[in-house]
Amino acid sequence: MKITAAVAWRAGAPLEIEEVELDEPRDDEILVRVAAAGICHTDMHARDGHLPVELPMILGHEGAGTVEGVGSDVTQVAVGDKVLLTPDYCGRCRRCRMGQTTYCDNLVAVTFSGLRPDGSPRARQGDAAIRAAFFGQSSFASHALATERNVLKVPHDAPLHHLAALTCGLPTGAGSVLNVVPVTVGSSFAVFGAGAVGLGAVMAAVVAGATEIIAVDRVAHRLETATELGATHVIHTEGGGDVAEEIREHTGGGCDVILDTTGVPALIRTAVESLDTRGTCGIVAGSGQDLSIPAAPLVRGGRTLRGIIGGEAIPGVFVPKLIALHERGRFPFDRLVRNYPFRQINEAIADSISGTTIKPVLTFV
Ligand SMILES: [Zn+2]
Ligand SMILES: [Zn+2]
Repeated sequence: MKITAAVAWRAGAPLEIEEVELDEPRDDEILVRVAAAGICHTDMHARDGHLPVELPMILGHEGAGTVEGVGSDVTQVAVGDKVLLTPDYCGRCRRCRMGQTTYCDNLVAVTFSGLRPDGSPRARQGDAAIRAAFFGQSSFASHALATERNVLKVPHDAPLHHLAALTCGLPTGAGSVLNVVPVTVGSSFAVFGAGAVGLGAVMAAVVAGATEIIAVDRVAHRLETATELGATHVIHTEGGGDVAEEIREHTGGGCDVILDTTGVPALIRTAVESLDTRGTCGIVAGSGQDLSIPAAPLVRGGRTLRGIIGGEAIPGVFVPKLIALHERGRFPFDRLVRNYPFRQINEAIADSISGTTIKPVLTFV
């Protein structure tokens, strides 16, 4: 079928909105008419060629929409259902069978190849194969194919233009705080980086009952948002002060839990220096750079440095919890969302990179 998609043709180039041909759903696939798609920094890293992606590809991995077709093996959703599209996994490896799907052994291929497991691309334009299985969805398009592994049914009246934002970055921040580290009642918490992931963590720390919630960022208006969402103290890194000292002062010794969402080695080192004895620092982003953390504060203080993917959240279990919290006014993530029409995808990406918009969500009419 003919669809409209934002195609990434060359690394670093703007996405091109064009007509492409999408395969009919196979027996295990679900065709979704996309109503909304969140933009996450991983899309930009993929567009710029910083991830193991081969172009041309349709990016987008925070889709939401209506089921328009199902293969013969699909039983969990039917035509007309409203669904969120979540990150895919292989479903067969040991980690997946243990329910730890964010650590799927085949995650790189499933997430970044943009291909089905049999190597087919799902879409084409003329003779050119276009990879349309990014995170198992490629939702920067009017229509996307997914499978039962990565669709989550939501009520018919669900506000998809907001809920698309609840499928990757926000659950990464919130899941790290609620599922992994975890932040407990009366504990002290700090987040480094107040983007969508970091602010998801701030809202979750409020839910968890942390007493001190500190947000650290270089963009002043993000820190204002952090305060509105419940941060008790903010630190502007452009201010030139000693961040670790300020955190120790504010908490009376250091934080029980710190989440770094920046992946910047110097900030991760500062985060470890800002921990209380037996504190834990979770890191959710990072590249090939060396961290060079001194061993002594970790060993002597019994501190932990812990990598986390996807907030270790099982989307089908965790996202409904976040929706329920939101309905009770306890996870006001929609305040971070700004909607853009699909044709403004490149402007939305630029606003996300500059920090003007914390969570852009594209909408299709
Ligand atoms: Zn797997
Ligand atoms: Zn993402």
